[in-house]
Amino acid sequence: MFSGLYLKKGGDKCMLYAKVIPDLSLSRTDKMFDYEVPFEMISTLDIGMRVKVPFGAGNRYMEGYVVDICDKTDFDSGKIKLIAKITDKESFLSKELIELAWWMKKRYITTFSSCLNTIFPSGADIKNTVKFVFISDAEKANKYIEENSSKVKFRSAINVLKYILENGETEQSKLLKELNISLSPLKTLEKNGIICFKNGRRNYKPKYDFSPYNKHILNPKQQKIYESLCTEKSEKPNLIFGITGSGKTEIYLQYIDYVISCGKKAIVLVPEISLTPLMVERFKGRFGDKVAFTHSRMSQGERLDVWLKAKYGEVDIVIGPRSAVFMPFENLGTIIIDEEHDDSYKSEQNPKYDAIEVAIERCRQNNAKAILGSATPSVKSYYMAEKGQYNIFTLDERAGEGSLPKCEIIDMRKEIEKGNFSVVSDRLYEEISKALSEKKQIMLFINRRGASTFVSCRKCGHVMMCKRCNVSYKYHSKGNFLMCHYCGAKESVPKVCPECGSKYIKYFGAGTQKIEDEIKKLFPSARVLRMDYDTTRGKYGHAQILEAFKKRQADILIGTQMIAKGHDFHNVSLVGIMAADISLNSMDYKGAERTFELITQAAGRAGRGDGNGRVIIQTYDSENFAIKAAANHDYVSFYNQERDLRSIMGYPPFSYVFTVLSVGKNEQKPLEALNVFNDIVSKLDNGSITILGPSEAIISKIKDQFRFRLILKCNDDEYMRSICQKASDAFANLKGYSDVYINIYMNSETII
Ligand code: ADP
Ligand code: ZN
Ligand code: ZN
Repeated sequence: MFSGLYLKKGGDKCMLYAKVIPDLSLSRTDKMFDYEVPFEMISTLDIGMRVKVPFGAGNRYMEGYVVDICDKTDFDSGKIKLIAKITDKESFLSKELIELAWWMKKRYITTFSSCLNTIFPSGADIKNTVKFVFISDAEKANKYIEENSSKVKFRSAINVLKYILENGETEQSKLLKELNISLSPLKTLEKNGIICFKNGRRNYKPKYDFSPYNKHILNPKQQKIYESLCTEKSEKPNLIFGITGSGKTEIYLQYIDYVISCGKKAIVLVPEISLTPLMVERFKGRFGDKVAFTHSRMSQGERLDVWLKAKYGEVDIVIGPRSAVFMPFENLGTIIIDEEHDDSYKSEQNPKYDAIEVAIERCRQNNAKAILGSATPSVKSYYMAEKGQYNIFTLDERAGEGSLPKCEIIDMRKEIEKGNFSVVSDRLYEEISKALSEKKQIMLFINRRGASTFVSCRKCGHVMMCKRCNVSYKYHSKGNFLMCHYCGAKESVPKVCPECGSKYIKYFGAGTQKIEDEIKKLFPSARVLRMDYDTTRGKYGHAQILEAFKKRQADILIGTQMIAKGHDFHNVSLVGIMAADISLNSMDYKGAERTFELITQAAGRAGRGDGNGRVIIQTYDSENFAIKAAANHDYVSFYNQERDLRSIMGYPPFSYVFTVLSVGKNEQKPLEALNVFNDIVSKLDNGSITILGPSEAIISKIKDQFRFRLILKCNDDEYMRSICQKASDAFANLKGYSDVYINIYMNSETII
């Protein structure tokens, strides 16, 4: 409240002005408008409230957000208009979140309104009454289904009834979307007295009852970390480096309990796809109704509902993917980021924020604890810990039952020498047979990221590389050539291997489908489940396949890396990694890091039960340090080698790499624009930034838009951001490039 500001010293009257951003859902720019605060509003108006203001020449009334209140205006104070009305009784965006939006605007070189839009689930009706559909007469409903089930005409209506019978009272908009129907079957059912509508506030209703998940007594190592988190005053982020199953989650749970006992709130971030039933069961089982979940498939209304629960303190914990970092808790005590190495914490859409950075900033502002956890910390995070900027805690033993599985590396080149051209090595074949005969389950992983993108020799393992950049060439099937995505060099695909002369040149890309076919051929009586993008597209596909596997309805589960995450399958004794190389040659500097991560996470799935787990790692590069370190469960040795390599190559975390992408319909314009941008940067820069390009982007044309890119490299992240901000402001003021769209990717992990 700002009433105290109203009188200046000496009793002079002092005006207050509010900076208002018009309706967020309309606003794409950073236009803020000054309005005078009428006397009677001075004691009630607050930052973050919505107000009605007269707008434009016609003085049309529009809604807007108050983002700042001050006693000065640059505008002609004689012409300034008055705020007409305050819409909200209280502020929906706290001052803290508005400050966070300013921080994001600066850091992610974007507009303030796009930051506010990301923070606040705008567009949803704030009054938050929602239309629900429920069954008013269950007997009638069942009869209706029975009588009409064979009639095509009634199919939609029957689907509605079945859905509500299974899921209970459902939001109308959700029904329409999920079942892809119009309103008319609902109206028919209502007329028949089978269903009813009501308005209400959405309420999270768990589909299952959760059995209590009791506290474990922490083992000494866990206890030490727990105590340290509770007592340590330091503001540094905390990295818990603990192998899979070492009891990190149990520490989170108990620390959150402590945070709540201090009257504070907790946010837990999890990778997009790892909000698994196991995780939900544990948090629900420990905290019951104190915890709410968000996920990306939620409607805007459902998201708003969780937002309001956090705002009103109706829950103490919110768990969700990266966007949950913005939950408007008033008294934030901690933000925990589980599996902190995961790529999904970075947004590739504007604003291109990194949820870990945002979490650390929010914790700093709120004097809360940032906790990062992983079995395979990102090289960046571990480096921060090494430099003393993060506190680090290590857990190197499993907390519960089970021990780490034995890993075996299989050199696929030798298989070929032996005459085995199958994607299944002899050893893997043996172990699958053994596991099947022991009635154990098997998981086979294929890392599809980067599949079919690089070319190698199957005899000697040689990968076709760009000589200048030390990265593998990407294969372009259209035109049948190889291209370096760093420098743009092109080469035709060799007919024989330049290393050994063999003609077994292989385009990598054994997909899950292909492996499934082969496994079925080799083990005709095994029950096989496949899980990848194609089989999990439906809303429950992912969870259903995993449930079926958990219930032992299949012997072998084949999948992309997504199945490696956060699941506990007690009967799995064997994990096979079909081609560890695929992630290794993913063309960017993170190839080794991803490979280590993938193998470790995958291995973590084996032998959760009795500790006799086994992992078979198939590779064409059996001497690779990342693969060897992963097989030895030795993160630190992997990290040390990878750090030194990156230091020599000048890759992150030893440098920062930004990509400026320019897109436009005209074939020349985006390139021209980048040349101009290049000039602007060169003029602003004191010589710290290395500029590469401009060159064609990896995908040089999308939907008839031409794409070019400029790569900027620098040792100082902050400095490069400030130069880019200035350059993009300067560029925006130039005439003649309104049809070119420039986008800056900061430390992006995908190559553009
Ligand atoms: P992480 O999160 O590091 O993978 P979890 O917290 O999931 O590890 O713990 C792995 C298993 O060990 C779980 O089944 C959990 O219930 C059990 N566990 C965790 N802490 C303890 C403990 N102190 N004593 C006994 N079992 C524990
Ligand atoms: Zn060769
Ligand atoms: Zn190159």
